[in-house]
Amino acid sequence: MEQYQDFGIEVDEEGRLILPREIRERYGIRPNTRIRSSDMGNGLFVSSPTRLAKLYVEPTSRCNLACRTCIRNSWDEQPGTMSDKIFDRIVSGLCL
Ligand code: SF4
Repeated sequence: MEQYQDFGIEVDEEGRLILPREIRERYGIRPNTRIRSSDMGNGLFVSSPTRLAKLYVEPTSRCNLACRTCIRNSWDEQPGTMSDKIFDRIVSGLCL
């Protein structure tokens, strides 16, 4: 279960929101960064510009099952496997 942390946001004279330093650092929000936000009707949702929450890597399209609804049935490509070099490059590009 996710734990949510409440925190205050200051609003300056021009209506700009000022996030606490801890939050800015945690999400890699730097000055002059444009971040995405949405009006949820009962609040604002602000998403981080740089923090990757999840990454799904499909290292192979090979499968020993044969589901009728499989997306692979609509592909022309042969099943394949990602090379170790590409996989390692993806992992090394993550900011862990
Ligand atoms: S949907 Fe496709 S990839 Fe998934 S288990 Fe079935 S055959 Fe395999």
